[in-house]
Amino acid sequence: MKITYIAHSGFLAELDHIILLFDYYQGEIPRLPEGKMLYVFASHRHPDHFNPEVFRLAEGREDVFYILSHDIWKSRVPESLQDQTVHLKAGEEWKQGEITVQTLRSTDEGVAFLVQADGCMLYHAGDLNDWRWDGEPDDWNRAMAEKFRRYIEPLRGRRMDAAFIPLDPRQEANYALGLDYFLLLADYGEAKSGAEKIYPMHCWDDYGIIGRWLVEHPDSPARNRIVKISRRGETFIQ
Ligand SMILES: [Zn+2]
Repeated sequence: MKITYIAHSGFLAELDHIILLFDYYQGEIPRLPEGKMLYVFASHRHPDHFNPEVFRLAEGREDVFYILSHDIWKSRVPESLQDQTVHLKAGEEWKQGEITVQTLRSTDEGVAFLVQADGCMLYHAGDLNDWRWDGEPDDWNRAMAEKFRRYIEPLRGRRMDAAFIPLDPRQEANYALGLDYFLLLADYGEAKSGAEKIYPMHCWDDYGIIGRWLVEHPDSPARNRIVKISRRGETFIQ
């Protein structure tokens, strides 16, 4: 499959017969090949994850379907596309032809997506992350860690081809808590569960954060599975 990093948490995954677009908000969407069904995902309504511009992708093509988190209201979807849209809550499973989508609850708003399509398994976290902050009270941070671990539990033992995981420099010392727990939970190791490639996201264009993680995790067996994104529009074949 071919993966293009668009911006922030926005990625395009081109599979054999299907194209998946996740959390587009800004940046250039590559030219989409004809003859492949396009599924557009938005994990929640925050402007850095959902831009109504995505509805323009349906201009001039019929094979588009929108998979939106339930917190993006129906009224935000153009009338003409209502039949090509599904709104999913957390803990749901939705199937259409070649694609199965499972949703996880987010620690922020909306959902995370686990998508099986064309023989590939992809996980897009949305804003499901361990959002601990130095300025928050200890109780709040403890509750966050507990919630995060509970919500992400469905990934235990799962094999994924690609996982899109937040690595947010604004969290300062806490930046890697979510990713590190994901690696622990879904350890690729001998069981071959976990993700073959991990695409850090939600970096606010500060890709140095990926280098920082590599420096601070010199012995992690996951090192060669972390994709070193360096700019918008970069593509990766895997
Ligand atoms: Zn966000």
